Amino acid sequence: MKKLLDRLQVPYRTNEPLSAHTSFRIGGPARFFAQPENEQQLVALMKGIRSEKPPFFIMGNGSNLLAPDEGFDGIVVSTCTALCGVKAGEDGVVNCQSGALLSFVGNKALENGLSGFEFASGIPGSVGGGVYMNAGAYGGELKDITEEVRYLDGNMELKVLKGSDCEFGYRSSVFKEALKGKSIILSAKFRLRQGDMREIKAVMSELAEKRREKQPLNFPSAGSTFKRPQGYFAAALIDQCGLKGFKVGGAMVSEKHAGFVVNAAGATCRDVLELMERVKERVLREKGVELEPEVELMRPLYI
Ligand SMILES: Cc1cc2nc3c(=O)[nH]c(=O)nc-3n(C[C@H](O)[C@H](O)[C@H](O)COP(=O)(O)OP(=O)(O)OC[C@H]3O[C@@H](n4cnc5c(N)ncnc54)[C@H](O)[C@@H]3O)c2cc1C
Repeated sequence: MKKLLDRLQVPYRTNEPLSAHTSFRIGGPARFFAQPENEQQLVALMKGIRSEKPPFFIMGNGSNLLAPDEGFDGIVVSTCTALCGVKAGEDGVVNCQSGALLSFVGNKALENGLSGFEFASGIPGSVGGGVYMNAGAYGGELKDITEEVRYLDGNMELKVLKGSDCEFGYRSSVFKEALKGKSIILSAKFRLRQGDMREIKAVMSELAEKRREKQPLNFPSAGSTFKRPQGYFAAALIDQCGLKGFKVGGAMVSEKHAGFVVNAAGATCRDVLELMERVKERVLREKGVELEPEVELMRPLYI
C-alpha cells in the first residue's frame, strides 16, 4: 500500500485517527489516509487499488459514518481534501466535484442567484456522500435536482449516469445498492433555476435556524441514526419508548431529538452499536416497528 501511494505521489498520512474525520468523533487509526490532490490522481489511485487489491474505503465528509474502534487496516481515500471544485453555469446547471461540501454548493448557488439547493445547504455532507445517500431534508432530496453523475465503475472506466437512472430512493441510490463498492463518484451536476438572491438567503437562514432549534448540534453525531420507517417517525417511536437520555457508555439517545444518537462523552463505536441495538429491540417490542440504521458502519471494500 505504501509503495503504491509513494509511486503515485498521493499525499497520505499513516495511522491517522478516523475520529478526526468523522462527525461522530469516533474511530481508531486508518493505516493509510490518502488525500488525492486532483481527479487524475484519484483515478490513478483507484486503478492501483484495483490491481493490487488492498482493502479500501472512500470517504466524503464522514458525516454518516461510524468508524470502528480498532481503526481501518487499509487505505481510506478522502475526497474532501482537494476534490472540491464547484462551477455554476449560465444555464442553471451547477457542476460539482465529489468532495465539495453541500454547504459550499449552497453558497455558490446563492452567489449565482440559483434556487433549488436551499434544502441541502445545511446537510453536513459532501456531494459524493450526498448522492450516494440521496441526502434530503425539508421536503427536498438530491434526486429532485440531479442531472447527471460521473463515476468510475468497477473496471475503473469512466461512466456517466443520468439522474433519472441513478435509482434514487429514500436515502438510497444505485451507488449504495447495485453498484456498492464498485463505483467511485467523481462529480455531479445539479439543475437549479434562477431565483431571487434575497429569497434564497432567507430560506437558507430559516432552515439553518430550524436545525439549530431541533437538532443536538452541540454534540458530535451522524445525524438521524435510523431511517424513517414507513408510516412512522423514528424519533417519535424512540421518544414514546422513554428512551431519550438512554445511555450505553459514552453514547446517548439525545435528550433534544430522540432520532439522534450522540457522542455525549468519549463514546466508542461499540457503545454506539450496542445502544442502537437496544433501541431497536425496545422499539420492536413496544411498538412492533423494525428500525433500520441510516448511519453506516465503515467496512472494508475490495475492488
Ligand atoms: C448534524 C447532522 C445533520 C444531518 N442532517 C441530515 C439531513 O438533514 N439529511 C440527510 O440526508 N442527511 C443528514 N445527515 C447525514 C449526512 O450528512 C448525509 O448522509 C451525507 O450525505 C453524508 O455525506 P458525507 O460526505 O459525509 O458521506 P460519508 O459519511 O463520508 O460517507 C457516507 C457513504 O457515502 C459513500 N461515499 C462518500 N463519497 C463517495 C464517493 N465519492 N463515491 C462513492 N461513495 C461515496 C461512503 O463510502 C459511505 O458509504 C446529517 C448528519 C449530521 C452529523
